[in-house]
Amino acid sequence: MTKELLRYFRHKQKDHASETLFDTQCPFCSVQCAMQFVEERVVGRNCYKVIPKDNSTSNGRLCIKGLHAHQHALHTERLQFPLLKRNGRFVRVSWEEALSFIQINFKNIQKEFGNDAIGVYGGGSLTNEEAYLLGKFARVALKTKYIDYNGRYCMSAAAAAMNATFGLDRGLTNKLSEIPHARCIILAGTNVAECQPTIMPYFHQAKKNGTFFIVIDPRETATCGLADLHIKIKPGTDVAFVNGMLKVIFAEGYVDEQFVKERTEGYDELKKHIEQIQLDEMAEMTGIAPEVIQFAARQYATAPTGMIFTARGVEQQTNGYMTVRNFLNLALVTGKIGKIGCGYGAITGQGNGQGGREHGQKADQLPGYRSIENPEHRKYIASVWGVPEEELPRKGVSAYEMIQKIDEGEIKGLFVMGSNPVVSSPNARFVKRALKKLQCLVVVDLFLSETAELADLVLPTSSYLEDEGTMTNLEGRVTWRPASRKRPGEVKHDWEILCEIARVLGKGDYFRFSSAEEIFHELRVASRGGLADYYGITYERLRNERVYWPCPSPDHPGTARLFEQSFAHPDGKARLAVVDNEYQKKQTTEQYPIYVTTGRVLSHYLSGTQTRRSPALASRQIEAFMEIHPNTAKKYKIENNALVKLETKRGYAIVRSKYSYKIREDTVFVPFHWSGFQNINQITDDELDPYCKMPGFKRCAARIIPVVDLERN
Ligand code: SF4
Repeated sequence: MTKELLRYFRHKQKDHASETLFDTQCPFCSVQCAMQFVEERVVGRNCYKVIPKDNSTSNGRLCIKGLHAHQHALHTERLQFPLLKRNGRFVRVSWEEALSFIQINFKNIQKEFGNDAIGVYGGGSLTNEEAYLLGKFARVALKTKYIDYNGRYCMSAAAAAMNATFGLDRGLTNKLSEIPHARCIILAGTNVAECQPTIMPYFHQAKKNGTFFIVIDPRETATCGLADLHIKIKPGTDVAFVNGMLKVIFAEGYVDEQFVKERTEGYDELKKHIEQIQLDEMAEMTGIAPEVIQFAARQYATAPTGMIFTARGVEQQTNGYMTVRNFLNLALVTGKIGKIGCGYGAITGQGNGQGGREHGQKADQLPGYRSIENPEHRKYIASVWGVPEEELPRKGVSAYEMIQKIDEGEIKGLFVMGSNPVVSSPNARFVKRALKKLQCLVVVDLFLSETAELADLVLPTSSYLEDEGTMTNLEGRVTWRPASRKRPGEVKHDWEILCEIARVLGKGDYFRFSSAEEIFHELRVASRGGLADYYGITYERLRNERVYWPCPSPDHPGTARLFEQSFAHPDGKARLAVVDNEYQKKQTTEQYPIYVTTGRVLSHYLSGTQTRRSPALASRQIEAFMEIHPNTAKKYKIENNALVKLETKRGYAIVRSKYSYKIREDTVFVPFHWSGFQNINQITDDELDPYCKMPGFKRCAARIIPVVDLERN
């Protein structure tokens, strides 16, 4: 039958009365593309399709992940009922039994070991309402100080650096539509083409406008197609590269003296530091010739406008915080911030990586970017929540440190919502071993993820097609995600689960919500007057527009461009930082002679719990791989498409080799979306950045052994 005839036949058989259409947003990356999901009955079968929908960020575009996201939401492996582990096997239980299990176990643990013996582990894909409620749940219902979330592994370096430099952290200081106005763009450790493909047209437009692109990456990624200059840098040496650029900028007189004088602090110290730096040394450290560093510096400094974007490639390092601070130095000394086409962006990874870090999921934070250690902030939030200020816990520890506290026996029970730390944490074998020590692990998820498999109790939650809420995209723009598809089985929304657990713990009065909108209303009030002020944003507004925060009143238009007149520190000035090259001196060793770096591929998302269950996405990349330069492969006797073992002192992973001339000879690349022996996080570095506690995912020294050798031995 020809395609035309088949189409005609299908049309004739379509039961139009049964067609249902849902407005929603893609659940994956931080662009939050809008779409419509259509269900229809054709020839007696359910058929599904996705129609991209226009909005002012993605302008009607969807990437392959968005087009197929519904495949996981409709997957037969979706959890539909609470599951309790009995004698090592999960059995279906009622919600009453599940809640009673939590009530008894959490209360017993807290009675015996204190409130802080229960930890809470959240996620950057939760809606704003649920992230907010999870923070309140930890502090009010459980009264524990131990709460953190997987965004610690994502945005913490950039967020901490922006806070320290500008006094405020928002992913992009400018709206995306300003990108075509920048005459020089630096993309450092960001593979936009594969991670946020629908924003590429902004960069393509800039290219058409004559923008000069500098792409810094040890690999020639799809994003390098934009590059006029590709800096194929040695992993982890970005600080030295930027110090080299600053050397040139200072030496050749490109500093915007007036801007620096009027709007920054710390210039003299930075100048003194840069004067001591030798360009040749920076070239040696980074593997980039001095002339290339000079050329990059001149291009950026002399362009009339310029933007810098960083992402996990430079941030997921044990000096990620200082690396970002150095990129911000670059923007500040050249005066390229707070104007059209001039700014900085940390391209957020997770769907709600921005909103998820603003309203209380972080260990040291209260809603609206308030600090849990600030007396005024504590007082205000306590008044909104109706609890005595002295009952609010103090700050806890970061995500990976919580795992360490589990291992040490200080945390005995853990509540995980929207995260899969067994796959996504560094040193994953240790993480798995630690979680097994828990007296009680409760996991809320769509699927029996690798973390859920270890749980005592698993609670089924709703998907993006079913769960309404707001998300804040990479621009700092709050978006409303409608969702109205019926939930399968006995699935509940995350926020309903939190309210019900709070009730059985005797704290139901603080969690009397009957809709996401009601929670958002409380969030607005809680954020009022904070740095991330959402007070002026309402569901009514969001049904018609996407609003940039801060937005302090309902008649406020929202703040698209930050720092036009002043920065957010009390004196209005930004802080320059002295950034040394200490970390760059760490090298590979004879035992572990090659750098491993990790990242994403186009068709997968984070730990792959969802995308590995989407046939259309999984089939595009069914397994992990190790991208290796053919010269390196020859050295280690590795054939193309052969199984290899990558090993560090923390463990090993087995993946298939893939020859590529696009990677440095001293580095291999492995994506992180797979579990089991393919999980590359079994070898990644769990040393933490001292400032933001970001683990050093992006560079670890390892050795490669062909699996054939292992078999022979
Ligand atoms: Fe848009 Fe990101 Fe989803 Fe792709 S993954 S459709 S870019 S939100």
